[in-house]
Formats: sequence, C-alpha cells, structure tokens
Amino acid sequence: MHMANLSLPTLFKMMNIPFLDLKAPHQELRAELQQAFNDVLDSGWFIQGNQLQAFEQEYAAYCHVKHCIGVGNGLDALHLILRAYGIGAGDEVIVPSNTFIATWLAVSYAGATPVPVEPDLLTYNIDPKLIEAAITPRTKAIMAVHLYGQPADMDAINAIAARHDLKVIEDAAQSQGALYKGRCSGSLGDAAGHSFYPGKNLGALGDAGAITTNDDDLADKLRVLRNYGSQVKYINEVKGFNSRLDELQAAFLRVKLRKLTAWNNHRKEVADLYLNGINNELLVLPTVPDGIEPSWHLFVVRFANRDALSKYLQDKGIGVVIHYPVPPHLQPAYAELSYVKGQFPVAEEIHNQVVSLPIYPHLHKYQAELVVDAVNKFR
Ligand SMILES: *Cc1c(COP(=O)(O)O)cnc(C)c1O
Repeated sequence: MHMANLSLPTLFKMMNIPFLDLKAPHQELRAELQQAFNDVLDSGWFIQGNQLQAFEQEYAAYCHVKHCIGVGNGLDALHLILRAYGIGAGDEVIVPSNTFIATWLAVSYAGATPVPVEPDLLTYNIDPKLIEAAITPRTKAIMAVHLYGQPADMDAINAIAARHDLKVIEDAAQSQGALYKGRCSGSLGDAAGHSFYPGKNLGALGDAGAITTNDDDLADKLRVLRNYGSQVKYINEVKGFNSRLDELQAAFLRVKLRKLTAWNNHRKEVADLYLNGINNELLVLPTVPDGIEPSWHLFVVRFANRDALSKYLQDKGIGVVIHYPVPPHLQPAYAELSYVKGQFPVAEEIHNQVVSLPIYPHLHKYQAELVVDAVNKFR
C-alpha cells in the first residue's frame, strides 16, 4: 500500500509505532482461530490428542526433520533434551555468554553446569574459535543459540562436537523458519528446542514449545519424559515431568504455522528496508554472513550510548526494547558461579549497547520508513 492511499486518521495512528503488535496477526486469523477453538471444544479432548499429533507432523515437515515432540514451553524443551540424553549432575554444557537466561536455566534444571563461551561481536552468536578451549572431560554438549533469529555457525560447531564426541543442541526459540546454508533451523544439530511464546515468530496464544530431532531413540524418550515418564497410563518407567503442549495451543499453532513463511517474508522486507535505509554511522547494524537467512525475530542495532538512542526513539513514539540488559553471568540468579564484571567482555559490551527496533509481520512499510528516518536523524 502506498502512503497516499491511507486516510489521515490511519496515517496519524501509524506515527505511533509500538515495539510489537500481538493484536493484528490474531485479528487477521480471527475466524480460523475461533474455528480451531470450537473444534477442540466440541471434541472434548484437551491433552495429547489429534491436534497435537497433527501439529507435530506439520511442524516436523516444516523443519525438515523426522520428529517433533510438543512440550509446555521452550525452556522445558531444552531441559528435557538434556535429561533425555542423560546429561546431569557433574556434567558441563557449553552455552553462549550472551543469550536469554533460559538457555542457561535449562542446563541448571538438568543439574549440569553452564560453561559460557563468548560470542562473535559481529553475529552475536557463539564464536566457534573459542569453544575448544572451554571443553573439559566433563563436557557433554554444546548448546548453540540462534540469537535474534540468526543461525549460529553450525558447520564449525558440529565439527568440534564430532571431534570431542559431544551432543549439539540448538536453542531455536527465536529462529523459526531461519535457514543455514539452505538447511532449516531445528534440523542443524542432534536436537533443537523451540519456543512458541506469543512474541516469537511462531507464537501460541499462551505458553508452548517443542523439540525437533532426527534421533528416533531420543524422540521416544522425550515422549515418555514429557508425560510423567509414562507410555502406558499409570505405568511410570522413569520419573518424568508434566510438560505437554495442549490441544488448544496445538490447534492455534496449526492455524498460525500456515502463515509463518509469509510473515517471515514480511519481516525480511522490513529488515532489508532498515539495512538499506539506515545510514547513521554512529550505529552498528546486524551482520548477516553469506549463506544465512535469519528469521528476523529481532532487528538489533548497537550504539555506545544506548540509553540516549533508546530515549530519543521512544520520545518520537517508536517502541524499542533491550535484548537483553544484563548477561546471565551477572544475574543474581547465577551468583553461585561467582562470575564478576569484565569476565565476559564481549557479552557485556553487547548487553550494554544493543537496542531492538520494531520488526513484525504487521508493521507497515511506511512505519518502517519512519523508523529509518528517525534513526538517521539521531545525533
Ligand atoms: C524465549 C526463549 C527461550 C524460552 O522459551 P519459553 O517458551 O519462554 O520457555 C529460550 N531461549 C531463548 C533464546 C528464547 O528467546
């Protein structure tokens, strides 16, 4: 739509640009989501039924993997993968030093210790060159995060893992639909944890998550672990968990999955508009290596005086968010590991300097142009 076709009240409304819009996508799908709700209501079946089975098949096909196992949320997905691989007390798992805390928490929940490795300052993802120095006889896995929706350097990570006999787990919470050398996020390691938190590229209408894998044995174990350690009702093989993706969320996710490719394409158009339009030399824009197609979950820029940039944009009615203000190693929750400020300087620099600009399927291109204009005028 050209801006000349927009009415004045619409134009005026568009000048207020929220960071995220979770109403528009659901308005667009209102009739289909209501139908999905009715289908589940009428079925009288709310846990582990046909909707879950259908979603698991459809999402496995989308990710080009053999198995999808729906679970309660993204954190559980990562935690249960570690449990299913038998990783726990006394073991170490390599994680990026800059990520959302859930990556670390999954390792802690399993009883293992997260061992941070610094990211590459250009891609914000774990730097494969630094991984081997962090490997010890206790290391069991590398958990790579596709941060902001950009796949980590998985060929390099998988090669290191093969040399040291480690599992490779993808934290694919932000990367639904991203491609690495033509291969799908969620199919790039031994197993992947996905989050369908409402703000993610594929979001449920509540909490939900999934694991994707080509490992038959792991998939069997996960189906048991998520459901009280039970295959046959009231027979418990192991001490399992209650972490299931319910029928309502599965039905909603099936509706929204059909939109994911189109909505990711729109995110890419916004990202291209930002990448081509922003020419303010004070700012560092995202770097996308050859062969990588991010899902553009977030569009993150970097600037030394981040707070000034953030306030400037907010004063202009442009919503921005910081992903994330405090790295996991400096969180009170991880005081037990006794890390101090300055210990992971790259992660700290990123956390001190990043600002995320609005990017989502229903962000109008005219609004994206307003963002470009505002950013370019920032001094
Ligand atoms: C959202 C997110 C998670 C956790 O997902 P939940 O569904 O909220 O539990 C894990 N890792 C990363 C990188 C995330 O962004």
